[in-house]
Amino acid sequence: MRRARASFEPERTGSAIVVDQMSESFPASGGARHADMDEIYAEAEHWHVNTGNETIHAKRIPGRWRTIKWLAASVWLIFFLGPYLRWDGRQAVLFDIPNRQYHLFGATVLPQDFWMLSLLLLFFAILLAVATALAGRVYCGYFCFQTVWTDVFTLIEEKLEGNPAQRRRLDAAPFSLKKLRTKAIKHLSWALIGFITGFSFVAWFYGADKLWRDFFVGDANVAVYAAVALFTVGTYVLAGWMREQVCFWLCPYARIQGVMLDRTTVVPTYDEGRGEPRGRMKKGETEANRTTGDCVDCSQCVAVCPTGVDIRQGQQEGCITCGLCIDACNAVMDKVGRPRGLIRYASLDEMEGKHAPPMFARPRVWVYIAILVIALSGIIYGLSSLTAIDLKVLHERAPLYVQLSDGSFQNKYTVKLLNKTNEDLDIAISVEADVPVTVTRLEDSIPAKHGEVTPGILFVKIRRQDLSGESVPLTFVATAQLPNGSEIKASRESAFFGPTQ
Ligand code: SF4
Ligand code: SF4
Repeated sequence: MRRARASFEPERTGSAIVVDQMSESFPASGGARHADMDEIYAEAEHWHVNTGNETIHAKRIPGRWRTIKWLAASVWLIFFLGPYLRWDGRQAVLFDIPNRQYHLFGATVLPQDFWMLSLLLLFFAILLAVATALAGRVYCGYFCFQTVWTDVFTLIEEKLEGNPAQRRRLDAAPFSLKKLRTKAIKHLSWALIGFITGFSFVAWFYGADKLWRDFFVGDANVAVYAAVALFTVGTYVLAGWMREQVCFWLCPYARIQGVMLDRTTVVPTYDEGRGEPRGRMKKGETEANRTTGDCVDCSQCVAVCPTGVDIRQGQQEGCITCGLCIDACNAVMDKVGRPRGLIRYASLDEMEGKHAPPMFARPRVWVYIAILVIALSGIIYGLSSLTAIDLKVLHERAPLYVQLSDGSFQNKYTVKLLNKTNEDLDIAISVEADVPVTVTRLEDSIPAKHGEVTPGILFVKIRRQDLSGESVPLTFVATAQLPNGSEIKASRESAFFGPTQ
């Protein structure tokens, strides 16, 4: 664990100036503030750091970072609402695993296009590394499903069972019908959210409409019921029972993040130089005669911490960078009339008064950005070049060519047509070349089932007098009409071979 030291630097905000002015009049209104602090000190005895052997009942207080946390968490609404989004008359995003087709806003991605998935994974891995290098476990604090679901579960717990002190009392209270009813409602609510989570997850793969039709009448397959059950139980256990202990003790990302942070990483940091020596406020104490630092040792920063970390011990792996301790400490600073920012987002260099280079001046940031741009360009290229039909042409090698009785030469080709649409199509094949060619033994069109590869054989003939060299470049073109009247095409280069001249 590292400890940050710094000289005192009050936060220069409008509200901080007001607070500063208030501190001048502290003795006059000190009685009220001491009354507030007495209350806080009384509850401080309950707050201690996470040892992993008891449930953390974190206190909820409003504040800037709490609001940002909710806004960031609201991104997860896409997870629940996304399967109901329609595009061209069908589910906009559908990962159709049984048919090995993935529909993304009208584009169909088949297994052979999976190189894009590798790029997508690379993109998100690097994005996570960038975010961690710049702002620590910011993903954990604001976006991770474990912290977001836990936040919702504990909010329900608070609504039903009360604040942390009331919850602890209820946990310790003997069995009663009231306790049974409260606990039952809570656990049923958790299980319901777990079920909705599992149902929404499966809807991305099975199709939302079909899932609603099949699930409740028992027509869905076993894998669907198993997946929903697994998610229901998993969500209930991880977000309801294990919650912050997952972040603290189980998550592998917490273990590897240490190698991604450096002295310039901006994380919630306790300003030790300003806060120490910490000490509780005493009756009759004024700003002029106090001998302690700005930390009034109220433990509010520990009280609100969802993982039960004491940020005053320095940056540590249990900290998920959520900023809630900043809100708590700022509220206390407001109460006691001291400037905000005793805990604030800052880098170690900044805390030690060293020059912190701006983000764009760090080579590591540019390397990360370059990899992100390359991965993103590859994904965009891949998506924009997806065709509705895919054509492969294989030239028969044995024999390479045959000479016909009229003196012309003939080559044999096997074409493979992949129909990526949702419709069965009749696909016509034509051949283009710089010399006259005749395509023989080919039906007018090849019937190609949707989502399948359909082979076909064709012969190309060129007259002897038109063969100017050993080979002639050919372009095979596959053309089909969609039910809506639009035409789709795919082409593939190949060659015609004749005798050595
Ligand atoms: S120490 Fe602060 S920033 Fe870290 S997890 Fe706890 S409340 Fe969030
Ligand atoms: S850092 Fe702030 S919230 Fe934490 S104990 Fe000190 S004064 Fe209280």
